[in-house]
Amino acid sequence: MKTTVQTLAGSRIGLFIDGRFVAPRSGTYVPSYDPTTGEPWYEFAQGDSDDVAEAVASARAALADPAWRRMTQTDRGKLVRRLGDLVLENADALARLECRDNGKLLKEMRAQMRAIPDSYLYFAGMADKLQGDTIPVNKLDTLNFNLREPLGVVGMIIPWNSPLMMLTGTLAPCLAIGNTVVVKPSEHAAASSLALAELVIEAGFPPGVVNVVTGDGATTGEALTRHPGIAKYVFTGSTATGRRIAANAAGNLAPCQMELGGKSPQVIFSDVDIDRAVNGVVSGVFAAAGQTCVAGSRCFVERPIYDRFVEALVARTHRIKVGHPQEEDTDIGPLALAAQLAKVEDYVASGTREGARVAAGGRRPQDPELARGWYYEPTVLTEARNEMRFMREEIFGPVVGVAPFDTEEEMVALANGTDYGLASGVWTRDIDRAMRFARTIEAGTVWINTYRSAAYMSANGGMKNSGYGRRGGFEVMREFSRLKNVVIDYSSAMQDPFVIRLR
Ligand code: NAD
Repeated sequence: MKTTVQTLAGSRIGLFIDGRFVAPRSGTYVPSYDPTTGEPWYEFAQGDSDDVAEAVASARAALADPAWRRMTQTDRGKLVRRLGDLVLENADALARLECRDNGKLLKEMRAQMRAIPDSYLYFAGMADKLQGDTIPVNKLDTLNFNLREPLGVVGMIIPWNSPLMMLTGTLAPCLAIGNTVVVKPSEHAAASSLALAELVIEAGFPPGVVNVVTGDGATTGEALTRHPGIAKYVFTGSTATGRRIAANAAGNLAPCQMELGGKSPQVIFSDVDIDRAVNGVVSGVFAAAGQTCVAGSRCFVERPIYDRFVEALVARTHRIKVGHPQEEDTDIGPLALAAQLAKVEDYVASGTREGARVAAGGRRPQDPELARGWYYEPTVLTEARNEMRFMREEIFGPVVGVAPFDTEEEMVALANGTDYGLASGVWTRDIDRAMRFARTIEAGTVWINTYRSAAYMSANGGMKNSGYGRRGGFEVMREFSRLKNVVIDYSSAMQDPFVIRLR
């Protein structure tokens, strides 16, 4: 099947509202850039507040429509499963679309496309498991129970680094539970969300159940997060934007799920196999050119192996191949946007000014073939200290700061010495020590002798400035549904109407 988005290159694409692509009311389209060349490759619609209002109205109408509201949970689950099948059928096209749009590695996208269809299957199974409780209360002849219901229209605001995976993790459970959705993808990588919207219709979901409004944060995002018709927001993006969205949403008392940035520690004890730990650190911070929320960008190494570890890390970093994301032997592709490249360069410069030493990388690649793209070499900065700006703030690029530690107490202070709390990694063969780390670290995910080992079956999310709420696992059923308490009195008794019935 050739969908609109598969013929996207060189064309323009509208907003996806009520089951079809429509032109934005303002008639404005904006170019999306190919990170390997810095050239525009298609144009997407810039949605404004009227477009957002139309998308929300469409989602609200779908919510009230018996075609969706009265669909049995089994049939809803089948639709989600069918959507997963279509994602699998279109896996290669979706993977290439995402690579073109945000510069992700093809091999990384292939790995994602093996898991994403399966995750639809997992969440489809939730459709018929959404159940309430019967509550024993201290009143005779009374039945007190909770109904678990969909929330309503969920607003999803998506970043550019892994849009399809991020969207799937919340879209699939939201649909299984019976919500309807308005998605605002990133202005830097909207193609895969638009492609998915088309597949939603092909799967048989009624029009309006999923809508996609493209555009920037200042216009489209602001309009969505101030709209009174949204029951809950799921935001995945930076902490600064998250704060703003939470403030907007508070105006309508709309709850949020906040999946924000990180500055995650990787801790290496001296009892480890150094090469394996190096491999883990590389996977934690250089995969996806460091553009992952869980990037293990602060690396603390026990002093007895510090020098050997740095030497091995630098040697491994020099073997990393920076190149075109669609070439099979490339390890690191470009950064997704020009501004991101400038930001990475600025952080490295600030690190060296503050006393860190560039042990590897620290510049754009010299290969003339890569000169037009937004590439940056994987970079190791030693003599790093937590107070340095590049160690405090999220870089979202291929840069790791390395520092030694002497005691476990010092390590905990270093690892937790951040405003963020998304992920963490510890490398040791000592299970007692690993468990002490797991208990004391302030992070939503703890990886022991592994990193970036993700699963949609487990709930994950952040602490501190990395956000709140959880994606994945059964926890999402609570995130995207609400309880309604129902009380039936079958005693036929006449009560005193002026006294609350507590017994
Ligand atoms: P960003 O915050 O700049 O943008 C994210 C989304 O918010 C985009 O769609 C953008 O258009 C929108 N937006 C911006 N301003 C807005 C506003 N005022 N109102 C409403 N929407 C607005 O983030 P980014 O640069 O696209 O993505 C990178 C960030 O995402 C990093 O901080 C990364 O750590 C984070 N991230 C977190 C997770 C997680 O699960 N915790 C996953 C992936 C990425």
